[in-house]
Amino acid sequence: MSRFIPYGRQDVTDDDIDAVVRVLRSDFLTQGPVVPEFETALAEFVGARHAVATNSATSALHAACHSLDLGPGDSLWTSPITFVASSNCALYCGASVDFVDIEPDTYNLSAEALRDKLVQAKQEDRLPKVVVVVHFAGLSCDMAEIGALSREYGFRVIEDASHAIGATYDGQRVGNCRYSDITVFSFHPVKIITTAEGGIATTNDETLHARMAQFRSHGITRRPEHLEREAPGDWYYEQQVLGFNYRMTDLHAALGLSQLTRVDEYVEGRELVRMRYDEALATLPLRLPAHRANRRSALHLYPVLVNDGAERRDAVFGELRRRGVGVNLHYIPVYLQPYYRRLGFRPGYCPVAEWYFDRALSLPMFPRILSEDQDRVIADLGELLA
Ligand SMILES: *Cc1c(COP(=O)(O)O)cnc(C)c1O
Repeated sequence: MSRFIPYGRQDVTDDDIDAVVRVLRSDFLTQGPVVPEFETALAEFVGARHAVATNSATSALHAACHSLDLGPGDSLWTSPITFVASSNCALYCGASVDFVDIEPDTYNLSAEALRDKLVQAKQEDRLPKVVVVVHFAGLSCDMAEIGALSREYGFRVIEDASHAIGATYDGQRVGNCRYSDITVFSFHPVKIITTAEGGIATTNDETLHARMAQFRSHGITRRPEHLEREAPGDWYYEQQVLGFNYRMTDLHAALGLSQLTRVDEYVEGRELVRMRYDEALATLPLRLPAHRANRRSALHLYPVLVNDGAERRDAVFGELRRRGVGVNLHYIPVYLQPYYRRLGFRPGYCPVAEWYFDRALSLPMFPRILSEDQDRVIADLGELLA
């Protein structure tokens, strides 16, 4: 059998390794100087005022929801075509969750479907407190429209940009929170840059920043201006809310800081891979990823839709895997997961998401894919869809 081609793969350089080794030889493995350095560098890179690094994007989403006071009796809405973490963060806070259907070409949460659902929810007095939009595959959602809706209907916006570091919207980097309260990035190894496990939340709001930083560290603060009682000594700290240990270590931050210097290089590499796929697959019975003139995608994924539907997709998927092509499926609509069905969700709830789910297939997409490997993917697909 030929060599296995994964759908995504990290790139770790000698510089990255040196950066991590320097931390290993230093005084602090965690809670040293590198995490704040990484936070400052990342905030500057995306154009946000503050950043809070965490041990995963999932923790960052939880911290984000907590900082926005999401709790029992509140509702969070998100896209069904995402990783379960975008929606689980509501449940961690005791809030309920609901789903807004996707656009049929970008597969992002549809601003039109959101508007319709808001109109109805307003009549029934059950508007959401938070909407988590997901920049699927690395292409930003329609943030101007979503920002306008958030002002009109009074909900807060979290951008789940786990796929989208390096992406832009109207020429500005995703993560600057121009139309949102908080943006979250993931640094899992399949994403654009990695810290092994890790995530970060960016915001322009001082209060949200302080609340997320405190939540990440057991709900504890030492900052004199935040204390409830007068500090009797330098040893004094206060636990003021119930938080978690969601901290990133200095080892992980060193890797992230080093990787951060190559975001644009990685996205450019992904653009070359996309160009080859776009050209080579144009005549096949497939729907290729959408482009948007005002947005640069970070191209985390390259999902194609098999026109013939689920049966054909499953056959093509199985045969590609058998041949060592690591195709994948992003994602099963979250509400079809057994856990969510037990909350009462049923098939048919978001028809566009389910239409997508029946056809989708993510092709191998990462900057250092060998062109001979990409040729193999293209040739195999051509043969199987002929
Ligand atoms: C990867 C991913 C997450 C979770 O990221 P972790 O860092 O693994 O916790 C959340 N949302 C989306 C859309 C993702 O792709």
